[in-house]
Amino acid sequence: MTSKRFAEINRLESKFTRSRYRFLAGLRRLSFILLFHLTVFLYRIFEIVAAFMPFVIISLPLAACLAFRKLLTGVPVFKQSRIYGKGGGELVIKLFNLSSSFHQKLFLFYHVIRGELAITGLSLREYGDKNLVLGDGYLLANKPGIFNLWYVRESSKIAHEGKQAIEWEYVFRRNFISDLMLMLKSLPAYFYHEDDIDFAVEVNLFDIIFKNYAMGEAVEEVMQSRGQGDPKTVYYVNPDCFNKMFADHDYFNVLQQGDYVFPDGIGVHVGCKILRTPLKENINGTDMFPFVCRMAEQQGFSLYLLGGKPGVADKMGQRLQRDYPALEVAGVMNGYFDQELESREVVEKINSSGADLLFVAFGAPLQEKWIAAHKQSLQVGTIFGVGGLFDFVSGNIKRAPRWMREIGMEWFYRFTREPGRMWKRYFVGNPLFILRVLRWKYFSFGK
Ligand code: UDP
Repeated sequence: MTSKRFAEINRLESKFTRSRYRFLAGLRRLSFILLFHLTVFLYRIFEIVAAFMPFVIISLPLAACLAFRKLLTGVPVFKQSRIYGKGGGELVIKLFNLSSSFHQKLFLFYHVIRGELAITGLSLREYGDKNLVLGDGYLLANKPGIFNLWYVRESSKIAHEGKQAIEWEYVFRRNFISDLMLMLKSLPAYFYHEDDIDFAVEVNLFDIIFKNYAMGEAVEEVMQSRGQGDPKTVYYVNPDCFNKMFADHDYFNVLQQGDYVFPDGIGVHVGCKILRTPLKENINGTDMFPFVCRMAEQQGFSLYLLGGKPGVADKMGQRLQRDYPALEVAGVMNGYFDQELESREVVEKINSSGADLLFVAFGAPLQEKWIAAHKQSLQVGTIFGVGGLFDFVSGNIKRAPRWMREIGMEWFYRFTREPGRMWKRYFVGNPLFILRVLRWKYFSFGK
């Protein structure tokens, strides 16, 4: 073969290879596009099917009832609301003309069928919201949804990072499974949710006064008040603590004298909701601790850790040094000492460490009583009674995953970890607590 012919064959071959390559690449692109549209199409079918059932079973009968009401009273069936739709445009949605926000939203399935809302998506934001910030444009490329992460986080009352951060978290982590989980998490959230209301500054439950704070407010106030006179005391109370308080008058007195008493856990929230004085947030020691550490790190306050089994406070101290390098742990000590004979020595150790913040973890009511008995001899700024915190932070006991906390089931997780110790606390204690709340509500006079 002459070299000319050889070059000609080469040229034809490479041309053929190039066009074959281009053809295959085009085919791949086309199949991606088709797959994408097929997924969107299937998701849309799923949404229509999922919204159609509640629309027929709930929305239509309710609309019929409200139409009847209209005939009798003239009150319109619907009211309108303007929110941001997909792409940031204005979307006018119809809501049932009812007082509770939960019942109003029962017509939203109609907008899902129309494709204007998603089943799960971003929160429903009022159109013209002045709080839009840079980056919201990207977020608003997604549809708002009947079920949304902001609603779940806000209703569960666990400390959160703010609306914007939650919306981003939703958009980044979104997939089919997480959307299904979000729907499931939303159901208990509807039960816990509080409509926009004016929260009382303080809430009285069994003559224990809670400061009704969101986490940020609580941390700020606790940290600012330290160092003025005697140490400030911070206690957290859950239904189990209340049950113990009923059998232990000294504990009741100690709690009444606490500078800050915060509500811990979903049970207390349900109790306060029954009393029609809802709480803003769940302020438990475990959720508050990272905020306190961050602030202590910034302001140069040192910590003393007293409590837990031997080795637990040491391990916690090591973890704190790893997670908050600038935080000073002034000392640690386990909680198994003879409180009658050795407390003085322990107090001296804490004082000589020069710590600013003392965390005591003996469990309730032992820790609160110990704090009350020794606070005048302790030269620290603030003392926190923190129960099982050391076990969680040291990694000794795993804390419930976030999704369980979001649906108010942290107690159940703790039960599965230590069934022998916890069954009575939760399965007997929680109903007993609710009964006591009802008794306090209906039969306590002059409270
Ligand atoms: N603890 C202690 N000294 C005692 C009894 C208990 O240091 O004399 C510790 C125990 O090791 C555990 C914590 O106190 O780390 C109690 O945890 P629990 O979960 O019972 O506290 P709660 O959350 O119920 O207040």
